[in-house]
Amino acid sequence: MSQELSKYIRVIEDFPKPGISFKDITTLIGDPEGFQKTLDELEALHKDNPPDVIAGIESRGFIFGAALADRFGCGLVLVRKLGKLPAKTFSETYELEYGSATLEVHTDAFESGQRVLIIDDLLATGGTAAATVRLVEKAGGEVLALDFVIELDFLAGRDKLAGYTIYSLVHT
Ligand code: AMP
Repeated sequence: MSQELSKYIRVIEDFPKPGISFKDITTLIGDPEGFQKTLDELEALHKDNPPDVIAGIESRGFIFGAALADRFGCGLVLVRKLGKLPAKTFSETYELEYGSATLEVHTDAFESGQRVLIIDDLLATGGTAAATVRLVEKAGGEVLALDFVIELDFLAGRDKLAGYTIYSLVHT
């Protein structure tokens, strides 16, 4: 990590299991300058073509998504883990290293053709983001772009998102 924001990100080796280098954004959002600089950079990416709505991925995507939605004066849609959303949902299941996971969104979360900015803290293998793209499109949204604070380049997650616009602030 060499970019400006990397100094705010704490790296914990072997968490949650041996071999994983965990990128901890609690230190970034806990620092007023770090959090604001992150939001400034995200906002600048879209100032000429702002989204109609932001879709935040549970749970760290909610933090950046909520703050950014306030800056753009747009709404926030929650993409949540299975069983958390109370109304009718679409769901998408994707493979994890061990087993699978399911994400959901309310069927009425988007108006048809709304331009949606998807946001999460980190792009790793891309499974989570690809499932979110499918959910947004199922629910009638049009994916404007995907934003990440951090991208783990060596996992090539963006290959699963070919054809979509992807921005990451810190590459490692
Ligand atoms: P993936 O579906 O593999 O792209 O994983 C992305 C999701 O897992 C994001 O929501 C991240 O918050 C989390 N994640 C994966 N790898 C890491 C890591 N090394 N450090 C922190 N979070 C991670």
